[in-house]
Amino acid sequence: MRLVVDWDGTITVRDSLVQVIHEFGDPALLAELEPRVGVDLTLHEEIALEFEAITTPLEEVVAWVVENVEIRPGLPELARLEPLVISAGFHELIEPVLAREGVELEVLANRVDVRPGGWIVRFRDETACTTCGEPCKRGSLVGEPYAYVGDGYSDRCAALAADRVFARDALAHHLDGLGVAYERFEDLHDVAVALGVT
Ligand SMILES: [Mg+2]
Ligand SMILES: [Zn+2]
Repeated sequence: MRLVVDWDGTITVRDSLVQVIHEFGDPALLAELEPRVGVDLTLHEEIALEFEAITTPLEEVVAWVVENVEIRPGLPELARLEPLVISAGFHELIEPVLAREGVELEVLANRVDVRPGGWIVRFRDETACTTCGEPCKRGSLVGEPYAYVGDGYSDRCAALAADRVFARDALAHHLDGLGVAYERFEDLHDVAVALGVT
């Protein structure tokens, strides 16, 4: 079965988009917009507005990310299962961290167009999902059964369509509320071992 893994807060210890907003963007805007996601904003709208407030050159942000973004233990073991990384974040900020870890994985994510007046997010897929009503990860995963590993809002819909779910943090809480079964994980060893990596 295919393995699909979220990036921020799942492979990484903390959400690197949130870290970047705190370092280079407008944390007050994040605090204002985050509770509105799923209410009167889509996740894409939130991300676009938050990154519009960042005007730092990409190289500087990439250097900071490579220096500061921590990965949960067990990535090399997880990588043996050739997971697909699916993220609401950006190739530009994910791939340098994977390179630092010496791991090559397939990544499905968005891109940024870095302009002096603010970053413009180029979303990979803007099609609204017929299940949850906003652009989401599920649409990219139809066709083959998969196991899904995630932690947050962006994982909800894709997790509900998975054959096996590993969850932590807000995703675990959300699934608890729905009464949906999942396996809890803290690090990537937990997931790799559960999927038979020895
Ligand atoms: Mg996440
Ligand atoms: Zn959806």
